[in-house]
Amino acid sequence: DSAAEGPACAEPLPVLGRDVTVPLVTGGEVTYAALDYAASAPALQRVWDDVAAYAPYYGSVHRGAGYLSQLSTDLFEQSRATVAEFLDCRPADQVVFTRSTTDSLNLLAAVLPVGCQVFVFETEHHASLLPWTDAQVIYLDAPRTPDEAVATLERALADREPYGPALVCVTGASNVTGELWPVKELAAAAHAHGARIVLDAAQLAPHHPVSVRDLDVDWVAFSGHKLYAPFGSGVLAGRADWLQEAEPYLAGGGASRKVARRADGGVDVEWHTTAARHEAGSPNVIGVYSIASACRALRDAGFDGLVARERHLIAQVREGLADVPAVRVLSLFGDDAPRVGVISFVVDGWNSSHFAAALSAEYGIGVRDGLFCAHPLVRTLLGSEPQAQGECGAPEAAPGERSLNAIRVSFGAGTPDEHVERFVRAVK
Ligand code: PMP
Repeated sequence: DSAAEGPACAEPLPVLGRDVTVPLVTGGEVTYAALDYAASAPALQRVWDDVAAYAPYYGSVHRGAGYLSQLSTDLFEQSRATVAEFLDCRPADQVVFTRSTTDSLNLLAAVLPVGCQVFVFETEHHASLLPWTDAQVIYLDAPRTPDEAVATLERALADREPYGPALVCVTGASNVTGELWPVKELAAAAHAHGARIVLDAAQLAPHHPVSVRDLDVDWVAFSGHKLYAPFGSGVLAGRADWLQEAEPYLAGGGASRKVARRADGGVDVEWHTTAARHEAGSPNVIGVYSIASACRALRDAGFDGLVARERHLIAQVREGLADVPAVRVLSLFGDDAPRVGVISFVVDGWNSSHFAAALSAEYGIGVRDGLFCAHPLVRTLLGSEPQAQGECGAPEAAPGERSLNAIRVSFGAGTPDEHVERFVRAVK
């Protein structure tokens, strides 16, 4: 644990659900250990308090004349500014509110210029892997080091020059291994070849500061529910041009500035050229407000202390797992790779689904098992062949057979030491 050498560890931030108890199959009950932050993190108490304080003043945004509508509009637009600040955006960048990272990346896919090529590593989450259905997609093989990732991208880009518009889509931190990707270097490679880059920060933003300016990415996407704001909102932030040159993602009120019948009986539409172009319909005001609240809370807590604390928790988990010979931790870049608090593993002789179920039933610990919506990556890490299975689901394996899926433990700013201690004890 290198926490002692760096900034002081933060205390766990207060989150909802700290005192929730769950029944154990062995009898009695225990406080729930939420160790599935990578799926959805609990709400920060402060986000909940902010939302509760705002709720009586809630009103429709952008169109209402009443006081509460005006107030809500102000808070909605201030939230946009808060997110831009949180992401250290460039002045001309636009922050579009969406439903989630998946929605954000599908929005970007919908505004790609005609003939755009998309470069994406096979190791991505399906949200980054799959939305580019109208583009020519170049899938890149899984790299085994961050340097190899950059070299692989450079080679793929160089092989295809000259080309028209091109986009690279890359994750900041893997939702399977927690490993950090060399985003800044990948952005430099993309730009050197005239391509643009979008950062899937779904797993990065809750754990690390993200600076659009410093990383020099063109867009960034993340979800509120992984950033301690589980109220159904997401963000796509970045360059305005592709967004504003394309048709609206959703057509409807709010996206349109002027609509008029034409003499020939049709309808002429003038669309907004701000973020509103892609935010048709009544937006999720509470969700947006809660994302801004979470951004403020994380900023005020300070990422230095949060990162130091997470490093301490990661060390506890990894050391605990290393004590169990039957456990194999999944890693693409190796043991020393910098990572966030997301760790996947398999246990010899155990079906991962049964193992995860036992952690819940016997210890009150909530983890996840499966392929984590990153099927190609998990198969590469497990060395297994594609199996028939449900969406994001766990393939069937008889008890005692080699695992075809994995167990994932993930944690963050609200996790007390006791949760990871209990987890390590349970695995042992
Ligand atoms: N990208 C990554 C890396 C993720 O971990 C996830 C969620 N597991 C997503 C994208 C999709 O996020 P959402 O489900 O909020 O759209």
